[in-house]
Amino acid sequence: MNFVLHVFAFLLGAAIGSFLNVVMYRLPEGISIIKPNSFCPACKKPIIWYENIPLVSYVFLGGKCSNCKKPISIRYFIVELITGLVFLYLFTQFKLSLSFLFYAYFFSVLIAISGIDFAHQLIPDVLSMPGILIGLIFHLIQGSFLPSLIGAAFGGGLILLIRTLGGWVYKKEVMGLGDVYLTAMIGAFVGFPFIIPAIFIGALAGAVLGIAYVISTRQSRESPIPFGPFLSLGGMIVIILELQIIQLFAFLGVNL
Ligand SMILES: [Zn+2]
Repeated sequence: MNFVLHVFAFLLGAAIGSFLNVVMYRLPEGISIIKPNSFCPACKKPIIWYENIPLVSYVFLGGKCSNCKKPISIRYFIVELITGLVFLYLFTQFKLSLSFLFYAYFFSVLIAISGIDFAHQLIPDVLSMPGILIGLIFHLIQGSFLPSLIGAAFGGGLILLIRTLGGWVYKKEVMGLGDVYLTAMIGAFVGFPFIIPAIFIGALAGAVLGIAYVISTRQSRESPIPFGPFLSLGGMIVIILELQIIQLFAFLGVNL
């Protein structure tokens, strides 16, 4: 039974990942997320339900549209797989609980924001802003409201400060307001002081990959490198480390 529940958690995540793919594709284009049903981006042919089964259909179709044979981006498969694995991990940590639901929401929004920011250099407020509120509500229920509030204010405030100072020095936008709201949301979920390592890991990962990009292409990138995916990565890593550290201490008989 336990095994079946774990499989179910993974499949639920893959299905949510399939929905996140729709959000990532449609939200920046201004298409409704609910209607119409999924269609091929190349030939616009509606996708039949059995062609829309998470993970399975991609393999079954050989990564090509059944109608026009144009390749379907591997991104769809990867997002479904990652979301499935995230849900499986969260289920092993929390079983079916309030924490599971809130963290599943948190990771799902971060995945959607990362995909959109990577492709469009844009973080929709409609994703990040409710996330700030939901993070605060979660910690209010958990009895850890103050660290959550300080985490949100510190994270959002720090990025706003960098944005303002950068604007003065470089006379252009170094960071968007979207990054400010995203960091506030991550702060609301990971809380203070964990928002500090989250930003640090995000900045480090962004710098390393940015430098690797410039070296490998031997040119400076004209469009700014989106910071959202790296901030999101920092937030996810800190949550996972936090859970593992709490478990380690519990194993040693110390309750944090
Ligand atoms: Zn097609």
